[in-house]
Amino acid sequence: MLLIKFPGVRDETSRPRALEFNRFAIKARDNSFVWKHTRMNTITQILLLLLGTFVAANLQPRLVVAETRVVIIVGPSSHPPGTHEVAAGGRLMKHCLETADDLPDVKVDLFNEWPTDQKVLDAASTIVFTGDTFPPNRLPNAKNTLKKLGQMMESGCGIVCVHYATGLRAEDVAADGEHPLLHWMGGYFATRCAHHQSIARIYPAAKITPAAAMHPIWQGCQPFTLHDEPYINNYFGKDGNKQAANVTLLASSLLPPENPKPETVSWCIERADSGRGFGIVMPHFYRSWKIEDLRRFILNGIAWTAKLEVPERGVHSTLPNLATFKPASVEPK
Ligand SMILES: [Zn+2]
Repeated sequence: MLLIKFPGVRDETSRPRALEFNRFAIKARDNSFVWKHTRMNTITQILLLLLGTFVAANLQPRLVVAETRVVIIVGPSSHPPGTHEVAAGGRLMKHCLETADDLPDVKVDLFNEWPTDQKVLDAASTIVFTGDTFPPNRLPNAKNTLKKLGQMMESGCGIVCVHYATGLRAEDVAADGEHPLLHWMGGYFATRCAHHQSIARIYPAAKITPAAAMHPIWQGCQPFTLHDEPYINNYFGKDGNKQAANVTLLASSLLPPENPKPETVSWCIERADSGRGFGIVMPHFYRSWKIEDLRRFILNGIAWTAKLEVPERGVHSTLPNLATFKPASVEPK
């Protein structure tokens, strides 16, 4: 071992003197040098302590909670007061998601048109539509809107359609029923289409039960009965209207009452692009948002498509009086 001594610096064999010198030794060992600080005076100790405190305060990794961005698009609607109420429904969903007890930090961007700010769209974990039929087909520049939406889907963004927003008209789809929404969300409400006819009718008491009870979207929800317009005979594909392998039928209802059979009223998809879709054909009446299990089911679906972990007890939301969200009317007129 080679011991190097520097002028004014004592080696480790010398006797320590308080407050006099720092003592170092550099030792050559094999192919490397070893620095050893064998004794330091009080001033150096204080300086190092202050330096350490400063470094710890400034370099300590900060806990950053990633924000989940949800975009809600409210499309056109011409339904009478108390029904659809898509603008109020959009505000209601935004409130419930942003104030939910046990969801991580969720921020909702709410629009009554297709956003012009691409950054907002690119930051979205999921995009939620409400309106009379699928808003991208009803808003101006449908071709460009669908193209951008397709890019968002390819990057794994989720998609949700609520009630009539699940709907496509004959002019929206190809003769065989083809439309990208079928692949983004797994199915749609085919309204007045040549290839398939879904049915819209109001039932005084439709009971909604799980078709996939263990799915996270059902967490914290019980079956529920409502006076509403759950669409039936929804469209899932050319193969005898059978859903694709990556589609899960979530909820069903025995309808219509005079000739009941299990009708799918909510479904979801896990796409190859890693994105998720969720469709639900209720609520028609604005007042149906008061039904806690329906509301939680929809909020769970939005959270699931945003790839958030659905809380074990489901998304718990506080709901002020429905008039708070400024519908034309809470009750149908
Ligand atoms: Zn309706």
